[in-house]
Amino acid sequence: MWSRIEAHRKPWDMIVVGGGATGVGVAIDAASRGYDVLLLEQSDFGKGTSSRSTKLAHGGVRYLEQGNIGLVMEALKERGLLLQNAPHLVRDLAFIVPNYDWWEAPFYGLGLKLYQLLAGKYGFGTSRILSREETLKYLPTLKTEGLRGGAVYYDGQFDDARLLIHMVATAFEQGATLLNYVEVTGLTKDAQGFVDGVNARDAETGNEFRGVAKVVINATGAFSDLLRRKAEPAAAPMIVPSQGIHLVFDSSFLQGESAIMVPHTSDGRVLFAIPWHGHTLVGTTDTPIPDPLPEPVAMEEEIEFILATAGQYLAKAPTRDDVLSVFAGIRPLVRATGVANTAALSRDHVIHIDRSGLVTISGGKWTTYRRMAEDCVDQAATLAQLPEKPCMTHHLHIHGFLHAAKQFGALAVYGSDVHEIRKLINTDARFGEPLHAALPYVKAEVIWAARHEMARTVEDVLARRTRALFLNARAALDMAPTIAELMASELRWDEVTRIKQLSAFREVASNYVLHP
Ligand SMILES: Cc1cc2nc3c(=O)[nH]c(=O)nc-3n(C[C@H](O)[C@H](O)[C@H](O)COP(=O)(O)OP(=O)(O)OC[C@H]3O[C@@H](n4cnc5c(N)ncnc54)[C@H](O)[C@@H]3O)c2cc1C
Repeated sequence: MWSRIEAHRKPWDMIVVGGGATGVGVAIDAASRGYDVLLLEQSDFGKGTSSRSTKLAHGGVRYLEQGNIGLVMEALKERGLLLQNAPHLVRDLAFIVPNYDWWEAPFYGLGLKLYQLLAGKYGFGTSRILSREETLKYLPTLKTEGLRGGAVYYDGQFDDARLLIHMVATAFEQGATLLNYVEVTGLTKDAQGFVDGVNARDAETGNEFRGVAKVVINATGAFSDLLRRKAEPAAAPMIVPSQGIHLVFDSSFLQGESAIMVPHTSDGRVLFAIPWHGHTLVGTTDTPIPDPLPEPVAMEEEIEFILATAGQYLAKAPTRDDVLSVFAGIRPLVRATGVANTAALSRDHVIHIDRSGLVTISGGKWTTYRRMAEDCVDQAATLAQLPEKPCMTHHLHIHGFLHAAKQFGALAVYGSDVHEIRKLINTDARFGEPLHAALPYVKAEVIWAARHEMARTVEDVLARRTRALFLNARAALDMAPTIAELMASELRWDEVTRIKQLSAFREVASNYVLHP
């Protein structure tokens, strides 16, 4: 990637700042249209919100309740396209809304039927009302006291960080240049005061460079206002950061293949308990925070709220001791007012063009990243006076595209790359060795991540190339020394670097361990 940048003499068509779902989505869209794109991410791909979601490809039952039919239909279509283009990573999942009051079954039954109908040809499965016995068949660990029945509907589930890494590979295959661990430290302007490029610093070497572009796209999520202020220090803020956390438990809390959806918690939110990679994922909260942090930390009230709400629905109420991992993420919600010239293409995501010509894309959700990217590239190309080219992503397969990947068990998330990982194991039997008894990962995955997936740190491997840190933080800490050794030999780290890497990982991982 560096040699591509060094050899690049003319201005880039677009420089995208931020390597989350939004930025990488934009890079795929722009590169597949034939534009010349550079994407820079200050940390690892997905280090921000995009590895910390509930991992649902969904239309948003919540928006339906608010009467926002257009938004739901758009997201349901995107959910369908995601399944079509990345079948190795997206699957349909049955969600059960348990009913404890007489009115709930007809009320939710009807709403969920509408949800199913709105998906049209992109439908996932048939919603219906369930008897008490059927509900317990789907959810054997549900609290039975007062249970009347339930309603089932279908939505999509995926592995967010894994999809993102495969999206990075897709963007690269389409011709984009993408780098992690390069921070954009400033925006440069031409004589008329229009943004014409970025100043950036390689976090590994400290080297600085300038990238010139016809348009710069700000896809920094919760950090969008920070970048906007580098062009216009007085820019009115457009982001309201809001934190959401998840707790992860073992699979005994939610046996079977179905999820629980609680439509109204005591604070009026939706709460999910979902089977994920052999564990139970429960979330989320919605707490306004003053400033976004690169490594957000769960608050005590949030932890207590999720434990208490989960305890109302699960036969065995989970306690702090049962928490295997806790992680927090920040929603880049867009302010409703206060930004005068915002071009809102949908009420969900916003594309805002500052007077300096900096294009900011924010809001939306993981599920709609493709549509967000399409809208953003349409606007950015017009602004930069690039030749008009149609969007190509509706049917563009994501790297690893493979049907029936499930047959490969724990390696299924690699899709078509599974054959390469197996080859690694065949060349050296040690690479087939497991990394921890509690998790399904093998050494070959570390080698693969370092050689082919731009993993640069122990954390990259444990948090995002595998999901060890998100599934079981203590197990991830146990695995860390072996990961550091394997990476040291792959990336030629000296002893000082290996030790520094380990201690940096331990510091981050301490936020994912819940102390009694
Ligand atoms: C708790 C929670 C649950 C969610 N669940 C779901 C869900 O189930 N389904 C769904 O569809 N959506 C969900 N979402 C929403 C979804 O996760 C986000 O909308 C999406 O991940 C935002 O992606 P992004 O790329 O805009 O931001 P991010 O992923 O945060 O990416 C921004 C990137 O910009 C980088 N950056 C910042 N400043 C700079 C700089 N100066 N130079 C270079 N890089 C920089 C950051 O390091 C970061 O990686 C959830 C969100 C939260 C918080």
